[in-house]
Amino acid sequence: GPQKVDRTVDSVCPFCGVGCLVTYHVKDEKIVRVDGRDGPANRGRLCVKGRFGFDYAHHPQRLTVPLVRKPGVPKDWQGAVRPEDWREVFREATWDEALQRAAGGLRALRDAHGPKALAGFGSAKGSNEEAYLFQKLVRTGFGSNNVDHCTRLCHASSVAALLEGVGSGAVSNPVSDVAHAEVILVIGSNPTSNHPVAATWMKNAARRGAKIVLADPRVTDIGRHAWRVLQFRPDTDVAVLNALIHTVIEEGLADEAFIRDRALNYEALRENVRAYSPEAMAPLCGIPADTLREVARAFATAKASMVLWGMGVSQHVHGTDNVRCLIALATVTGQIGRPGTGLHPLRGQNNVQGASDAGLIPMMFPNYQRVDNAEARAWFEQFWGLPLDDAPGYTVVEIMHKALADEADPHKVRGMYIMGENPAMSDPDLNHARQALASLAHLVVQDIFLTETAWLADVVLPASAWPEKTGSVSNTDRMVQLGRRALTPPGDARPDLWIVQQMAKGMGLAWDYEGAEAGVAAVYEEMRQAMAGAIAGISWDRLERESSVTYPCLSVEDPGQPIVFTERFPTPTGRVTLVPADIIPADERPDADYPLVLITGRQLEHWHTGSMTRRSAVLDAIEPHATASLHGDELARLGLAPGDWAAIRSRRGAVQVRVRRDDGTPRGAVFMPFAYVEAAANLLTNAALDPFGKIPEFKYCAVAVRGI
Ligand code: SF4
Repeated sequence: GPQKVDRTVDSVCPFCGVGCLVTYHVKDEKIVRVDGRDGPANRGRLCVKGRFGFDYAHHPQRLTVPLVRKPGVPKDWQGAVRPEDWREVFREATWDEALQRAAGGLRALRDAHGPKALAGFGSAKGSNEEAYLFQKLVRTGFGSNNVDHCTRLCHASSVAALLEGVGSGAVSNPVSDVAHAEVILVIGSNPTSNHPVAATWMKNAARRGAKIVLADPRVTDIGRHAWRVLQFRPDTDVAVLNALIHTVIEEGLADEAFIRDRALNYEALRENVRAYSPEAMAPLCGIPADTLREVARAFATAKASMVLWGMGVSQHVHGTDNVRCLIALATVTGQIGRPGTGLHPLRGQNNVQGASDAGLIPMMFPNYQRVDNAEARAWFEQFWGLPLDDAPGYTVVEIMHKALADEADPHKVRGMYIMGENPAMSDPDLNHARQALASLAHLVVQDIFLTETAWLADVVLPASAWPEKTGSVSNTDRMVQLGRRALTPPGDARPDLWIVQQMAKGMGLAWDYEGAEAGVAAVYEEMRQAMAGAIAGISWDRLERESSVTYPCLSVEDPGQPIVFTERFPTPTGRVTLVPADIIPADERPDADYPLVLITGRQLEHWHTGSMTRRSAVLDAIEPHATASLHGDELARLGLAPGDWAAIRSRRGAVQVRVRRDDGTPRGAVFMPFAYVEAAANLLTNAALDPFGKIPEFKYCAVAVRGI
């Protein structure tokens, strides 16, 4: 039977945005088992990561003391990262010394070069309270809005299009609403791997008769449950979606009343999609015109149709346009504002929704108040008692460029504070990003492992793993959920919330958050005031009682609103603005030297840059090696068999990796997960940005593959 344990602690899974509630079973100060709780997003279910991916917290490579770089040790950004040999690069320090150096170094740069010389990356893996305090520190202590996090790399384009169109960057309906849908369009998403428990709700819906339409260049597991699979050519999202919108309008299936009452700019949209008939788009996207028409009819005429999308949609130079098309499709068909309808960008990380809500983005204060809006800025200046910069800050990839800018550039970034992010693995074009990190005059990294980013730091601050702290996170369904501390951080490692406050003091800020767990409840309550428009009704006490409350939640009686846009959109006019989109090609197309398309992404067992899951015994045992997936025909053409080694090159870098056969990967393409440091997919990727969301084009660049 199950092991007898010392205690159980209720919390939230630290991995994906589904937000499964868990119970940790603790024995001898170690987690020995995790069970699924009856949370609103998971109903007792967990995927393999949630169930078995907990022992990273106990890994011997955990950072347990502050480290400072030894004098004269170069920042070798091209060399291997060897966490076990850390003594060659760093020496141990006391917290006093480390904090003095960490904050002192940043302060000296700010005083010498001005506030724009500094930047901060927070984390979508941290709590809302950590995100809130971190952005407050950058805005009030560093003195600029140069603060961002990995939302820039996942749904920034979705958020740009949603804010522009419907006035809110969050989902309109929870995933579980697929239970009420007749048609479920899953586009650019591999939910079985990336949102596994959410995928179970989709499969259940298909079982009871809902029609899943999978639209994706890669046919993944969810395709087995689909009514139609649109395996369109990579990069042709706008062609496919405009053809669907064209069909709806041309065949008289548009919801005229909904458009009249609730939409703006319909004429321009209608004019624009005229040129995008399915017949004209079929040769481009590779989907027969009849199939496109059939899907458009089904979507428009169903009682309820819902769209869920992932990074396959967002990570393009036309990511914002892709999402504009999705908004238009849902609007012209009137499939918004009821159960089983709406728009759901599936959030990647456990708290990417919450971190963005809390203001961990360069153009907005908490709750999406624009920094260049005088009224919003005045409110926050009064609330925080300090003057604020009115210029939006730089985004993740821009900050890396600014780190390598000329000495003469007044906005050259010279010092950074990075909490829980690993841009040396997650950024595009890693040779550039790693060089940028190494070039900083002062880099402070706060993390639980000596990550590839921490390896380049001047000061490393040992932080706490998720089960070692209490805090709230907000999942893809807009549920604010409470994680409770189950363990004590090892050695001298400290809660992140405490470290951020020490850094703030070091930067000269007089902060005073009292109470248990580094004052987490006090921080939350301050954040609640700044975000009253979303979470006024969710007090810390209520979170402690209920564990999960959905926002918008505007009063203590408000049960929370899982479905929004029922009567109006949160825009000044109450209407959705339709934005026509045209085809923009990928930044880098295949050619004779680099004939294949590289698509990057994730796999079920490994999480993002692998810092946690590759240190998790069960998960690492299932998927221990970096692989690249190709269609069987493509492997044959290259003279490769599954398991063979291949070199994959792009204009920016090269990796060596074993190949695997996956006939769901389109011919002419390669798929690689980005979790493996020994074959880092992002050495190959292109840093070209979507002009609106500033998201890089992770889903398309040109590579060559050769057997070795
Ligand atoms: Fe954790 Fe996501 Fe898996 Fe749920 S589906 S257990 S939140 S990784």
